Amino acid sequence: MKTYDKIYIGGEWTPASGKGSFDVIDSSTEEVIGKIPRGDASDLDRAVRAARAAFDSWSRTSPAERAEYLQKIQAGLQARAQEIAETVSREVGMPLPLSTMIQAGLPMATFGSAAQLATSYPFEEQSGNSLVVREPIGVVGCITPWNYPLHQVAAKVGPALAAGCTVVLKPSEVAPLTAFILAEIIDSVRLPRGVFNLVSGDGPTVGEALAAHPEVDMVSFTGSTNAGRRVSEVAAKSVKRVALELGGKSANVILDDADLAKAVKAGVQNCYLNSGQTCSALTRMLVPRAKHDEAAALAKKAAESFNVGASTDPKTRLGPLVSKVQQERVRGFIKKGVDEGATLVTGGAEQPADQPKGFFVKPTVFANVNNAMTIAQQEIFGPVLCIIPYDTEEDAIRIANDTIYGLAGGVWSGDPEHAKRVARRLRTGQVEVNGGNFNPFAPFGGYKQSGNGREYGKWGLEEFLEVKSMQL
Ligand code: NAD
Repeated sequence: MKTYDKIYIGGEWTPASGKGSFDVIDSSTEEVIGKIPRGDASDLDRAVRAARAAFDSWSRTSPAERAEYLQKIQAGLQARAQEIAETVSREVGMPLPLSTMIQAGLPMATFGSAAQLATSYPFEEQSGNSLVVREPIGVVGCITPWNYPLHQVAAKVGPALAAGCTVVLKPSEVAPLTAFILAEIIDSVRLPRGVFNLVSGDGPTVGEALAAHPEVDMVSFTGSTNAGRRVSEVAAKSVKRVALELGGKSANVILDDADLAKAVKAGVQNCYLNSGQTCSALTRMLVPRAKHDEAAALAKKAAESFNVGASTDPKTRLGPLVSKVQQERVRGFIKKGVDEGATLVTGGAEQPADQPKGFFVKPTVFANVNNAMTIAQQEIFGPVLCIIPYDTEEDAIRIANDTIYGLAGGVWSGDPEHAKRVARRLRTGQVEVNGGNFNPFAPFGGYKQSGNGREYGKWGLEEFLEVKSMQL
């Protein structure tokens, strides 16, 4: 049991003035494994003031000095990697080996990359008679979700600090524990007071106060499209910069000349990563109509090979969902799919018989899905794959783009050039070609209602910079 009864403001662990706490639940056992304070708007205000007070001197530190702190944070994460992986596995439900690689590994890589960028990024350039300088935007508010909890935090805090910004973080109240571990690490490396602040609480109370605060220069938000919309509305009053990383309903276009067996197997794996709780999951599998039944049979076989179980059991390939709320939501979508006439190939809305406890959902595949159905249009955020038949390549591209979202996509073809031609026509921020690996140093972000920001690499650093031109 990990109980945090303080929040982190101005370099001190301090009691929250907000009353009460949030329980953190083990998604496999439904037991309470932690508690965090329920902060309020006055806690947030204190944190913003601390960040504002620290900004002037932090923004004038050298990039090399900032890089040194970032490397120390990276080393601190490395030292606690096992604890981080286990914590996220329990909170979110990701099987432990994957969690070690992704949930603990990626944040380390991100802080390392931020350190490297701080010293290599050209903050100044000459343009005609102007010296163009890039400066930190100021106090940054970070609001993050629960599905890759520390990874999402690192993607904001690392580059914001590298840029010379000060930070107030409001992590997800559903999976908050690793944000507190990060604050402990930051405290131990003696980052100057007020440069990083942590206030836990719920979205409408602390998140909106952060988005609204006139002393916050930018809010960087990752989460659902609905909450992102609200953050934009609240932030508009003070005209602050808003970077949004939102939901998705991404298509995996399997072309006629692809290796169908390989593409379907990889597609199912992609869709079920983190039990489907991945914003960029390829949840709509588009297949040539003539190959639809074969694809459905292959997907059924792949889905049924996923061993469902507790996130810390080494045999598990598919863990539970994060919470009761999510479990109910996903089950509701599965029922809706059946009601709307899609073919349930495997899985279903019932609790798996061998897992009476825990927020489990069976690995589910729907076939004969029409893109107008609810399960093809709304983000389900569970292990639910929709197979959609198409008639021509043009038709496939149209269906892929027929969504309010534009986060990710996939294309499979026997000819990489053919795949790239189709990839260019997908209106999304990233496309995996023939299962190309996630690259944490390439820009990541959405088109359309999947958001307007870009994270990682130099693009992620530039989010936190203002541009000034001095005419000489
Ligand atoms: P969520 O929108 O419920 O919550 C995200 C964060 O916003 C939490 O910290 C929450 O407390 C806060 N929040 C909620 N309402 C708010 C409000 N009115 N004002 C300010 N803050 C508010 O999302 P979630 O359920 O935690 O995460 C899942 C969602 O995140 C999915 O839609 C997923 O696609 C998306 N996501 C996107 C990316 C990306 O990079 N595009 C990455 C991960 C997750």
